[in-house]
Amino acid sequence: MAISVRLYGQLSELLVSSGCAYTLKCEGEGGEDRWNSLIYAVGDVADMPRMSGLREMASQLSAKIAHVDPFIKSCNDEICPQCEGVCCLNKFGCYDIGDVIYLVALGWRPVEILSFSNNAPEGLPCKYLSQSGCVISRRVRPFRCNWFFCIPIIEHMENGGKRAYRGFSRLFQEIIRLRKDMLDEFCAYTKVLSESA
Ligand code: SF4
Ligand code: SF4
Repeated sequence: MAISVRLYGQLSELLVSSGCAYTLKCEGEGGEDRWNSLIYAVGDVADMPRMSGLREMASQLSAKIAHVDPFIKSCNDEICPQCEGVCCLNKFGCYDIGDVIYLVALGWRPVEILSFSNNAPEGLPCKYLSQSGCVISRRVRPFRCNWFFCIPIIEHMENGGKRAYRGFSRLFQEIIRLRKDMLDEFCAYTKVLSESA
């Protein structure tokens, strides 16, 4: 798919307006088509030689997220079975633009990302929720899902082993910083591309 400078402009605008963060979908008429085009535009940018640093950052991010998985999972396994609420709803179980940038930098093709869409009713339990929790590997789960911690989970984390909690907190901060650096780099280069017409 050929990507036009106009599309880079739209992508740049979207990234700036969302602060490279929480944009789930493009609203309004033609929103879904626009969103799909932007995913291809992200793929196009991430493939450029200038983006090798982005791919390296995504790979480091993936390794760090995998590292905190056992700690978070052990807390979920301990606390969630006693919970009567469902915090996993369809409205959370979809990728935002930051997730798309990360996944493409990890080597995902846009078509693979599109296959993970979630158009199910927003208020119902997420379609990726199974009896044993989320079926999406934590490394590639929507970012907002990985970092949602309810009060009982936070208390369990804090009251468990101090060393494990300290290690988790340190990695958590590194992950947030690394993701921000990765998105900032992508935003900056996309802006250059959009102005290069
Ligand atoms: S994360 Fe919290 S709100 Fe969600 S199921 Fe577990 S205990 Fe319940
Ligand atoms: S953690 Fe998984 S099951 Fe829960 S909302 Fe996110 S994608 Fe859906």
